[in-house]
Amino acid sequence: MVAGLDEKLEPIYRDVLRRNPGETEFHQAVHEVLETLGPVLVKYPEFAEHKIIQRICEPERQIIFRVPWQDDQGHTHINRAFRVEFNSALGPYKGGMRFHPSVYLGIIKFLGFEQIFKNALTGLPIGGGKGGSDFDPKGRSDAEIMRFCQSLMTEMYRHIGEYTDVPAGDIGVGQREIGYLFGQYKRITNRYESGVLTGKGLNWGGSRARTEATGYGAVFFLDEMLKVRGDSLEGKTGVVSGSGNVAIYAIEKIHSLGGKVIACSDSDGVIVDKNGLDLDLIKQIKEVERRRISVYADERKDSTYLPDGNIWTVPCQIALPCATQNELNGKDATILVQQGCIAVAEGANMPTTPEGIHVFQEAGIAYGPGKAANAGGVATSALEMQQNASRDSWTFEHTEARLQQIMVNIHRNCYETSAEFGQPGNYVKGANVTGFLKVAHAMVALGLI
Ligand code: GLU
Repeated sequence: MVAGLDEKLEPIYRDVLRRNPGETEFHQAVHEVLETLGPVLVKYPEFAEHKIIQRICEPERQIIFRVPWQDDQGHTHINRAFRVEFNSALGPYKGGMRFHPSVYLGIIKFLGFEQIFKNALTGLPIGGGKGGSDFDPKGRSDAEIMRFCQSLMTEMYRHIGEYTDVPAGDIGVGQREIGYLFGQYKRITNRYESGVLTGKGLNWGGSRARTEATGYGAVFFLDEMLKVRGDSLEGKTGVVSGSGNVAIYAIEKIHSLGGKVIACSDSDGVIVDKNGLDLDLIKQIKEVERRRISVYADERKDSTYLPDGNIWTVPCQIALPCATQNELNGKDATILVQQGCIAVAEGANMPTTPEGIHVFQEAGIAYGPGKAANAGGVATSALEMQQNASRDSWTFEHTEARLQQIMVNIHRNCYETSAEFGQPGNYVKGANVTGFLKVAHAMVALGLI
């Protein structure tokens, strides 16, 4: 008996374990969704009849390929890259590319699986996919990054397209990488097909507010959760893990809504600045100089750098995990709750372990899971696709307003679904069921494909 699963779902989960050995993150993501679907199968028996869940758990297509490239010294390196095209019931596969040494098929499949439901929640016509490579960009020169991206695209171009599969960024892939990837795609295909990639630069087809979108979106979602509880961000003290694109713009939005973020981190350590983080300095260190966050403490003498520190031990009222998967465990969650944390919104994908989620839910604090709270990034990617399709370019204000409306809708839909299924405010249930229903109904309508 697998804990938490209904009897109809248990054999399906066992089959996922058997068919995908060793892919622990993928197992975790599937388990978390299946755990919430029991009542849905009771209400819609046709989904069992059409084997919708079994089909959703099996990617439509998985591509694994070799990426050979040369470093600046002329040495040859071989990396492995992936594109998992998970589900296209609602639109072309859509999801980022991750460059990180921890990447293997199980990571890309967990991310691709999450992406299906997240993308469905945005209400925009995008399916779910994800890709990446075990390439480690840390310490690599621009020229090395370019050669790696060109080599990767030399294989990937044949699998993607504006109506097929639209990659974007994720950890280790930002505007610089998207530029090199887009340049190579354009060169090979001889087509200026803007809609084939999102996260582009503003003067070559990108959307305003895309850079800010994931972080801003997570804070809009957080703000909505607080409103339901008659509260707001005004005067709240926060911690935000990470210091990449998602973290930076989450901090920016919290500050603009009257909160104060006092800690952020990178994989080496934690910065605590009781005066509130100086975001211009963080942007300079991370976006311009591409250096480690420890540099912050050299510049701001009031702040402290904790090498190998645990950011979740810093007392706060709001916490946003914006770094990576499983970065916040049961112990961390217990400390957060004990020290007065009242709301958590996930900017990263699956950053809280199942034990951590359990602690938050038992404590009754507001907890917004990544597939709802961080959907603003991919939603704005879909807005970028709209602008590309109409050869248009919207203002920042218009794009941000659309993003905010999308986040408000996602929050409302998740909340209403959680209430309909008897657990108002359980956003894990709300997000999984809302996303699943959209995809499942479309799959039934499209027949056995
Ligand atoms: N990597 C982001 C995510 O996890 C964005 C994907 C996209 O814009 O396609 O949703």
